[in-house]
Amino acid sequence: MDPKPLGQQHNGETSDVDAVVIGAGIGGLYAVRRLAADGLNVIGFDSATDVGGVWLHNGYPGARVDIEAYYYCFFDPEIYGEWQWSQRFPPQSELLAYLRHYAEHYGLRRYFSFNTRVEELHWQPEAKRWRVRTNTGSTVYARHVVLATGQLSKGRDLPFEGVEDFAGQWLETSQWPTEPVDLTGKRVAVIGTGSSGAQVIAAIAEQVESLHVFQRTPNYVVPSQNAPMDQDRYRQYSQNLGDLWDQVMRTGPAYLAPTTDVPASSMDPEQQRQRMEDQWNFGGLAMTFTFPDQRTDWKTADLVSDFVRAKIRDAIDDPALADVLEPRDYPIGTRRLVVCNGYYEAFNRDNVNLVNLRKESITRVTPQGIQTDEGFYEVDVIISALGFDAFSGAMDAIDIRNADGRRPTEDWARGPQAHLGLMVHGFPNMYVLTGPGSPSVLVNFNVHNVFHVDYVADLISYMSSHDYDAVQPTAEAQQRWHIETQRAADGLLRKEVKNYMVHVNDDGSRVFIPYAGGWSTYVDIVNRVAAEGYPGFAFSEVGTSTYRAVDHEDTVVPL
Ligand code: NAP
Repeated sequence: MDPKPLGQQHNGETSDVDAVVIGAGIGGLYAVRRLAADGLNVIGFDSATDVGGVWLHNGYPGARVDIEAYYYCFFDPEIYGEWQWSQRFPPQSELLAYLRHYAEHYGLRRYFSFNTRVEELHWQPEAKRWRVRTNTGSTVYARHVVLATGQLSKGRDLPFEGVEDFAGQWLETSQWPTEPVDLTGKRVAVIGTGSSGAQVIAAIAEQVESLHVFQRTPNYVVPSQNAPMDQDRYRQYSQNLGDLWDQVMRTGPAYLAPTTDVPASSMDPEQQRQRMEDQWNFGGLAMTFTFPDQRTDWKTADLVSDFVRAKIRDAIDDPALADVLEPRDYPIGTRRLVVCNGYYEAFNRDNVNLVNLRKESITRVTPQGIQTDEGFYEVDVIISALGFDAFSGAMDAIDIRNADGRRPTEDWARGPQAHLGLMVHGFPNMYVLTGPGSPSVLVNFNVHNVFHVDYVADLISYMSSHDYDAVQPTAEAQQRWHIETQRAADGLLRKEVKNYMVHVNDDGSRVFIPYAGGWSTYVDIVNRVAAEGYPGFAFSEVGTSTYRAVDHEDTVVPL
């Protein structure tokens, strides 16, 4: 069904639709396509000028995907075979071109209002509708709302004083301008050395006059070993796409990766060394899958960390510099591994200077540059690569209110929670794609979004065929899933290390936000929930105002 003409949603006019999708990135594009194909009247909103989501906003130099393109895609039979990826790990421009092509192929842009920010999302219990208000003055009533706003999309607030006084150019990797930025011959500072910071540093080092890199925590940065796509393999995959999808659904990270079941303790030192070399040569995120026990065993984690630390030292000419760049206080894989070619080599250049924020602190930004308590760095351009307000940032950016006027994140003081990582108790018909409590940032976002959208679409069809018009998880089921999510993270070294996947409570207790039990386990659990008639969910029948929970007796949600 075609969406209502977009003009009707502007200039203070009101319309009523089956579903609103917020975000025109990977999840939003697929959501609009699938829900429209199911016959729903669906419209989408995005504050950006076009489709692409994070792949539109993060167009900084060096940005590229760290999961192989064989799997970082929609698995769409009409597109997979005809699309040409140039490399295993393509650059941002190719990812964006792919998403644009997908939107073009299925005519998805006509569903979206671009340059339109959703400001309010208020549940109307009598009408069982979400009232959606945007910054353009339009109001839409929607039976269902899909939050395809991403978990890593809202940049962290800038913590530095004086940013507004800076007379040069201030750039953020997460909101990179779409028009070209020429850094040639400029004096540049980069603050932050996560995936975004590392990629930008390696990409611009040669071109700029000088580069000051402000590093707080050193990261393990490994090469991607990028190469052209294996065309034979790609062709075979395209001819057996259903099989490939099935294989991917049985993996831990939602893509085919060089994993093993053999723990380090079952190998002799030479076998261990060979295994680590093989993973290094495979590239990408492979070092995180070297041994199954490296996620939980400090000794194995140290073995892999020492191997990578030696590679890092090999790449850096100055041992004193290597001392600062080499991560020593946490093992590899406990924070998101950074995949980037030429990162350490950039620091061998005379025009690149490392500022160790463990020895000096940024006190303020001035019109001419960055002041620390140890010195002053005069620059023309400052690039902020501070990361994201993960999990709750994009949801907090919208005024979401349930029937009681509560916001979903108000109950997240002890860590973000969503039942099965998808729905929040008290917020009917609101679906948080790749939300907290789903594998989310631990797996391939593209596959995850497709799976979640299909799950939501199937749930909506189930409701239609059972005369239900609203659904939400029960508080008990959400709590049980939260406990299960914590159980799945038991013993994970990653939970003990400061990183954006861990929420630390005031009493020091730690909450692991994504579901760490592995992609295939997650898929099995949520599929069984659907097959058993959605235990843990409460449905409201058309014409009533109450919700009836599906019997818990046979629940597959672990207690
Ligand atoms: P990030 O990993 O959170 O890194 C943020 C960086 O900013 C860290 O070095 C952090 O230091 C630093 N920082 C934060 N606040 C600071 C402050 N007040 N002063 C100084 N430094 C500060 O963010 P990201 O690099 O944008 O990456 C986030 C995630 O996005 C990645 O983990 C990945 O999942 C995804 N991503 C993937 C790719 C890719 O390769 N495909 C590329 C970009 C992003 P601390 O570590 O000390 O906090």
